[in-house]
Amino acid sequence: MSADCIFCKIAAGEIPSRRVYEDDDIIAFHDINPWAPVHFLIVPKMHITSMAQLEEKHAALMGRMMTLAPRLALEQGCEPYPEGGFRIVINTGKNGGQEVPHLHVHVLGGARPWKHG
Ligand code: AMP
Ligand code: ZN
Repeated sequence: MSADCIFCKIAAGEIPSRRVYEDDDIIAFHDINPWAPVHFLIVPKMHITSMAQLEEKHAALMGRMMTLAPRLALEQGCEPYPEGGFRIVINTGKNGGQEVPHLHVHVLGGARPWKHG
């Protein structure tokens, strides 16, 4: 856990969130400012600052996060592929548009139009 990290605090239950999924290593919760009818974040409980800090030892964790995405997308109301589907976004660094410095996978979906994107 990193001090003053909002997503570490959500993972620890110190800040409330609308949870979509949780296990020992991963939490998923609704984005507080959704861009689309479905918009949630998949977050490792371990503090990894961004994709730029990923190492080989994180491969299995990242693989689990990515394979959770389609399952949770359907559970949260995305229509099935190919008519429905979803968008995955992982903002990384300042030029990548990252605002929260704790790695997170955005999953966006649902009927268009969306607020952005
Ligand atoms: P990024 O720009 O990729 O770092 O995205 C950070 C996302 O976290 C934004 O879409 C925010 O709306 C979302 N966010 C920030 N604080 C919270 C929170 N307390 N609960 C849920 N989502 C949050
Ligand atoms: Zn953190």
